[in-house]
Amino acid sequence: MSKSVLGLLKSMLTFGEERPEAQASEETNVAGEDMPSFGVADSEPVSLVEVDHGDGRMSQYPPPEKWNDWVEWDPKAWPRKVPRRYSLVPTICFNCESACGLMAYVDKTSFEIKKFEGNPAHPGSRGRNCAKGPATHNQIYDPERILHPLKRVGERGSGKWKRISWDEAMDEIAAKMRESREKRRDGIMYHVGRPGEDHYANRAITAWGVDGHNSHTNICSAAARLGFNLWGGGDRPSPDHANARAILLISSHLETGHYFNPHAQRIIEGKLKGAKIITMDPRLSNTAARSDVWLPTWPGSEVTIMLAIAHYLIKRRSYNREFVRRWVNWKTFMAEAPGTEGVGELPVGDGTFEDFENCLEQLYAEFTFERAAEESQVPIERIIETAEIIEAAGDRLATHVWRSASMGNRGGWQVARALFFLNVLTGSVGSVGGTSFNSWNKFVPKPFKQPPAFNAWNDLHLPHEWPFAHYEMSFLLPHFLQEGRGDVDVYFTRVYNPLWINPDGFMWLEALRDESKIKCHVALTPTWNESAWFADYILPMGHAGERHDIMSQETHAGQWIGFRQPVRRVAMERAGKKVEYTYEANPGEVW
Ligand code: SF4
Repeated sequence: MSKSVLGLLKSMLTFGEERPEAQASEETNVAGEDMPSFGVADSEPVSLVEVDHGDGRMSQYPPPEKWNDWVEWDPKAWPRKVPRRYSLVPTICFNCESACGLMAYVDKTSFEIKKFEGNPAHPGSRGRNCAKGPATHNQIYDPERILHPLKRVGERGSGKWKRISWDEAMDEIAAKMRESREKRRDGIMYHVGRPGEDHYANRAITAWGVDGHNSHTNICSAAARLGFNLWGGGDRPSPDHANARAILLISSHLETGHYFNPHAQRIIEGKLKGAKIITMDPRLSNTAARSDVWLPTWPGSEVTIMLAIAHYLIKRRSYNREFVRRWVNWKTFMAEAPGTEGVGELPVGDGTFEDFENCLEQLYAEFTFERAAEESQVPIERIIETAEIIEAAGDRLATHVWRSASMGNRGGWQVARALFFLNVLTGSVGSVGGTSFNSWNKFVPKPFKQPPAFNAWNDLHLPHEWPFAHYEMSFLLPHFLQEGRGDVDVYFTRVYNPLWINPDGFMWLEALRDESKIKCHVALTPTWNESAWFADYILPMGHAGERHDIMSQETHAGQWIGFRQPVRRVAMERAGKKVEYTYEANPGEVW
C-alpha cells in the first residue's frame, strides 16, 4: 500500500479526535499568502431569526441588531464547540451583474474573513446567492492573487516585474497621461469589461476631457440593447417574473447567467403562482428543462416565431387594442407608411385606428405558424401552444433576451425588437407581471457635480464608416492599430481580458506586444490574466469585499440602491481603528 493511501486512512481513523486549532489572539492579514485564523469568543451563540420569503419558503439569518457582535459555533471545529465572534458586514457581490447582497463574517480578533453568506436585507437577492457569491472568499484568499502595484522591468510579456508603491504608480501613469493629453485628446483609452459601478469611472474620464471610454459591448449585448432602444429609448428589459402569467425567455443563459439568481428565484415564484414558462433555446438547458414549452429553435429563426405569434394576435384582434391605440404612434405610421418603398399597397382607408389594424394584419400576414415551424424546425403544435399561452396572459407577459440569439445572429437586434413587440401588443409594458425598461427599475443617482461634456472624438472607438454602430467597435481595435489608423498612449484595461474574450485573441496579442501601437498598458485587475501579462503596470483591484461602489440593477419590479464596501475596513472602523486608505485594511495593498 502506498504511503499516501496509508496517510489518508490514518487521517480518516483520527477523525473526531481533538486537534490543536490555530487561534488568533491579535489582528492578522494573510490573504493571498496563507490561510486565515480566528479568535475564540467568550460567549455562546444566540438563535437565528426566521425570514418568510413570500414565496412560501423560510430561512434563518442572524438578527440585524446582532450584526455588530455575532457569535456562532465554528463548523470546522465540530464536534468540538468553539464559539467565534464576528462583525457582520454587508457588501455586494462582484462576480456577475446581478449585484446580489453578501454578508461578510469578519472575525473580531483577527479581522480575517471567515465566510460570505447571503444578505437577507438585499431587495434583489433576498438572502440567496449562487455558488459564486460565497466563493468570493476563495478569491480573497487565492494564493495567486496580485497584492501590490507592479511595474514591468523586462521586455513586455517576459514576466519580469518589480513591486512599486501606489504613489510611484500614480505619479508615473499620470505623467504619461498628462503628456498625451497635452498633445491630443484621443490618446488615452479606458477599456472596461465589468464596470461594477454606475458611471463613476465615466465621470473621471469625462473630466480628463478625452474620448476615452471603450467597452466590450459590441461582442456582448449591443444588439439586444439596440432592439430595446428603438422601441422607446430603453436599454434592456426588466421583467416582473414574480407576477407574470406567461414568461417568455430567449436562450437559457439569461436565467442561468444574466441576473440569474434574482431572476431565477422570481421565475420560480411566478411558476408557483401558475405562470407558464416558455423557453426558446436550441439546447435543453436547465431553464428549458423546467419550462412548460421548450422551443428548440434553429439559431436565427426566433424572430419568425415571434412575428407569427404577433400575426396570430393581430388577426384575431385579441391583442390589447386600447394599449396600442394609446401608446403606439400609429397616426404617424398611417401618414408616412403609404408609398414607402417596399411596403406595398396598404388598406389605409380613412386613416382610423381600425384601418391601421387592417394595415398591420396585411403587413404581418406572411408570418404564419407554418412558416415559423419550417424555419425554426420546431413542431408547429408547440408554436401554436406558445401563441395561446401569450394570448391568455393578457398584460402579464414577462419577457427577456440579452446576448445569445440577439448577438449570435446577423441582424440579431431584431430578436429584441420582435420580442418587445409582443409586450407592446399585449400591453405588458410597465404593467404588473409585464416587462419594463431597465431605467424604470434601476436607480442611478445623479452625481452632485458633473464635469462638462468633452468635445473630442476617437476614431478607434467609433470609426466613421460605421455611423450606426451601437456602442464602440472595440473588437476591431487591434485591426485598426495594425492598419495604421492610430495608436494609444495610455491604454487601461479594467476587469477586462481582451486577449481571451475576443474571437481573434492572437490579433490582441500582437497589438499588446507592439509598444509603438500601445505605448503604455495599465491593467487594473484582481488576478493574473492573459492580457495583464502584457501590461506595463498592474494595479491590484479589490474583490467584492474590498472596494467601494454604488450599485443598482433592474433585478425585479422595484428600485433599490446598494453599497459595495471593503468589509475588513468597516469591521476595523466599527472596532474603533482608524483606516485612512482602504488598501491599509485590504490584503497587501489591494485598492
Ligand atoms: S448571481 Fe451573480 S451577483 Fe448573485 S451571487 Fe451569483 S455571481 Fe454573485
